[in-house]
Amino acid sequence: GDVRLRQVRENVWEIPKADGMNVPARVFASESLLEEIGEDDTLTQLRNATHLPGMTKYALCMPDGHQGYGFPVGGVGAIDAEEGCISPGAIGYDINCGVRMVKTNLEYDDVRGREEELVDALFDRIPSGLGGGGIVEGDSDTVEAILEHGVEWAVDAGYGVETDLARCEDEGRRPDARPEFVPQKAKDRGRNQIGSLGSGNHFLEVQRVTDVFREDVADAYGLEPGQIVVLIHCGSRGLGHQTCTDYLREIEQRHGDLLEELPDKELAAAPAGSELAHEYYGAMCAAINYAWVNRQLITHRTRTVFGDVFDADPIDDLGMELLYDVAHNIAKRETHVVDGEERDLYVHRKGATRAFPAGREEVPEVYRDVGQPVIIPGSMGAGSYVLRGGENSLDVSFGSTAHGAGRLMSRTQAKRDFWGGDVQDDLEEQEQIYVKAQSGATIAEEAPGVYKDVDEVVRVSDALGIGDTVARTFPVCNIKG
Ligand code: 5GP
Ligand code: MN
Ligand code: MN
Repeated sequence: GDVRLRQVRENVWEIPKADGMNVPARVFASESLLEEIGEDDTLTQLRNATHLPGMTKYALCMPDGHQGYGFPVGGVGAIDAEEGCISPGAIGYDINCGVRMVKTNLEYDDVRGREEELVDALFDRIPSGLGGGGIVEGDSDTVEAILEHGVEWAVDAGYGVETDLARCEDEGRRPDARPEFVPQKAKDRGRNQIGSLGSGNHFLEVQRVTDVFREDVADAYGLEPGQIVVLIHCGSRGLGHQTCTDYLREIEQRHGDLLEELPDKELAAAPAGSELAHEYYGAMCAAINYAWVNRQLITHRTRTVFGDVFDADPIDDLGMELLYDVAHNIAKRETHVVDGEERDLYVHRKGATRAFPAGREEVPEVYRDVGQPVIIPGSMGAGSYVLRGGENSLDVSFGSTAHGAGRLMSRTQAKRDFWGGDVQDDLEEQEQIYVKAQSGATIAEEAPGVYKDVDEVVRVSDALGIGDTVARTFPVCNIKG
């Protein structure tokens, strides 16, 4: 495209500040990843994002960046919480889409030969796809309680164990949640989807640990080669989507003056301190809680399925503890030191993961000495990674890193290039990976070939010291919406 970049240092590129931009923009990428990032509208979107009032230091693009609605997926925008704004498009429609990893003390040998039994049982018992309901059929009081209390609600209701709380970003509860600001239509959509994967890009994957890179951190995380783990990726379903949709429309209408100044209508933002900023933030935080409960209920059901398949107690015998749960579509008020000054910022992470290093108070005590776990899925045919928040992340990326491999092509293009049945057969025959999905189209849209090279994404994160590689995993079986 027409976006000019200059190299700052290895893996760091800058779009210099020009007319209308409040700050420069920076891209974290190797040369090969940068080439892929340059193929769609990511760089234009990143430059546009620098026009948002209060954007601080730089608008940032992580190495897995690709184009999204208004703001790149893989984008980070730290925006002044007093004089700036909050922008739903810089968070994403699927509020608190995220991933969690559940550990087991099973080894690959315990699962080999039983992959089909396991994948069938998971597919049977974990709601997925567009319809299908959830694990809990909630009345309106249940939805209110979930929006307010997050994972605490789930643990109190018997869908988890006490130790799950500390192993979730923000202990699975955003205290700023204001359920009264979540639109009624969103709450209605949320009622029968509590504990469901949804469709398309969301999945549950059983994996084996193939490599450990930092032994001391892997020890602290309780990970070792050969171990079976489960990765769960989903978000806030219709509730989050409806919340984003409704607030975007409201913000466009009520803050048209700000919208006029922005290069892209999709960046619509509510000025900090406005009524809508307050309401959207409270509603978004409530939707965050809903997503955490969603992943918690899926965790609970996964434990039950493993318990049944392996005829053992999931916690006491199988050791199915949570490693961590991380959000990757979120904005949070955080304090960061910028040019020597403490600043209160809305840190927007859209397709980006918080990667706080050792010592930062938000990192739960169990991990405070080594840094928070960061979970980066690759694809159903490639490795995934566990990283730890890197020492440089606070200085370089407002405590953030990538969230995945990142898409290389659109879903439409994917369906032209791949045939679901063939992808499924190849994975099984060549890699012994068992995939089950609601539709063949989903498998085509999510084929390994539609994603970038996750090894390269993670290599850049590690080289920059924003997220350090701890362990690599590889798929055993996978269910998709
Ligand atoms: P997103 O939240 O942007 O939809 O996806 C996050 C990341 O998940 C993608 O960038 C991709 O790298 C990864 N991913 C997508 N499908 C799968 C899958 O089936 N298994 C694994 N391990 N990763 C996946
Ligand atoms: Mn999602
Ligand atoms: Mn996601």
